[in-house]
Formats: sequence, structure tokens, C-alpha cells
Amino acid sequence: MNALVHEAPLLPEHARVKVREAASVVEHVMSRQQRFTARHLLLPLLTQVIYSRCLIADALGSFESGGERHFLPRFHFQRTKVAKRRFRIGIFAGIHGDEPAGVLGLMDFVRELDEDPELGRHFELSLYPLCNPTGYLAGTRESASGKDLNREFWRGSEEPEVVLLEKEIAARKFDGIISLHSDDTSPGFYGYARGSVIATQLLVPALAAAEQAQPRDSRQLIDGFRAVDGIIHDSFDGILSAPASDRPQPFEIILESPANTPLGDQRRAFTLALKSILTEYRTFITYGGDI
Ligand SMILES: [Zn+2]
Repeated sequence: MNALVHEAPLLPEHARVKVREAASVVEHVMSRQQRFTARHLLLPLLTQVIYSRCLIADALGSFESGGERHFLPRFHFQRTKVAKRRFRIGIFAGIHGDEPAGVLGLMDFVRELDEDPELGRHFELSLYPLCNPTGYLAGTRESASGKDLNREFWRGSEEPEVVLLEKEIAARKFDGIISLHSDDTSPGFYGYARGSVIATQLLVPALAAAEQAQPRDSRQLIDGFRAVDGIIHDSFDGILSAPASDRPQPFEIILESPANTPLGDQRRAFTLALKSILTEYRTFITYGGDI
């Protein structure tokens, strides 16, 4: 019977109202193609931190660019402090500065973690919503130094964002790494599955879930790669990932939304896909045995 009892949301009602207010301010500004400071963009998450017992905020570190100090924000979601083994998942957004849908979708997802207590149970979630703050501020794919940061990983890059993220990824030893991106040449939602074989088993239902919000990109060639039902197994070199030497390898999933579709649909697709990945992963680890 217990399985049928719905737990109350982790946030009290007045706090949920505050978080939703912050989210709607951000939504309003974004819908008018205006830009904020990084702090304003992340206001829904920062507001949630004030009220949530499960969510904390800090920064991976900071660096200087153009005479200003920029921070790489990090959020941490964990239901209880009990020291038992949890599934460690890292979710990264905004490594390309001109792809706001992933940043917003990730914030929507984190809000749902507090609204649906079952969702985040058994997980330790590390969330990096804005991996390229200077690119975001300039509205460019590249960082202020002109580099595509998502081609710089594990190649001795000196880009400060990459150095900070590499150090974090190496230290955390994630069970899974999920990156959120948007593609302005794609008509639909798709993804990359890499690392552990579980990645494909997780991505199949995730893309099916996202179809409630967006059509899938079912082309056989996406971004120059062979794709089957919206799933690609190859990828560019130097993308944000675990070091190749990591054992066991985490599952690595990249979700790509169609950038030229309504922002609300892309956000919803990200949220649906992320929820599916968590749910399926937990089921898989609990009942799926040991691949
Ligand atoms: Zn991207």
C-alpha cells in the first residue's frame, strides 16, 4: 500500500510560489530575447536554495575575463544526509553560451525534484547549469576567449572553465554524465549515447518521453553522424565527458533540443527526458542485474 501513498512536496506552498515567480520573471525576459546577468538567469534556482532542505549552491571556482570575475555555479541536490551509497549523476548545461533552453530546462527539472519527492530519491545530483558564463553573457557559442569549450576536454586545455570542470569530473567519479545542448539545424529532439552500454538503454525511453513535448529528429544523418531513431553513438573529440581511463565508465548522454522551436517546448522535452533517465536508471540498477 505504501507505494500508493504520495509524499507531500519537499517545498512548502509559499516557497513553491516564490520559486515559480522567479521562474516566470526569467521566462518573460527570455521570451523577449533580452539578456540577464548570470545571477538573474539563475534566480529560480537560487530562490529554491533558500527554501529547500535538499538543494545547496556553491561554485566550482571563478576566473577572470575582460576585467570581470566569473563564477562556474554548482548546485547539489540530495534528499537526506544519510551516508549511504547513492547514484551520482552530473548534469551540465550552457557549455555553449547561445543555448539557453538547456539552462532553463535544467532549472525546471530541479524545481520538479522538490515538487516530486520520489524523483530524486537514491540520487546525489550535481548540477552545473551555466558552464560557459562569458559565452552566455555575449550570446555566443564560444567563450570570451573565442574557444568552443566543448572541443577542449582532456586535451591539456588551459581554458579556465575546462580546467575547473575536468577537475570536478575527475574528483566526483560520476555514475552518469548528462549534457544539455540545442542544435539550430535540427527539426527535432535527439541524443548521443556514450560510455557505459546503459546509456543507450536509458536514452531510448528518454527520447520517447521527450516526444510528449517535441517531435524526434528521425533523420539517418544528424550533425554529420549516423543516427538511428534519434540516437547517435559517435561524437566529436574533446567534448565534456569522463576521462577515457575512468573505470567503470559512467553512462554519458547528450540531449539535443531543436533550437529553432518554441523555448517552452524545448524546456519541457529536457525535463521529461531527464525525469525518464533518473527513473529508468534506478529501475535498471535495482532490477536489471549487472551488465
Ligand atoms: Zn551545444
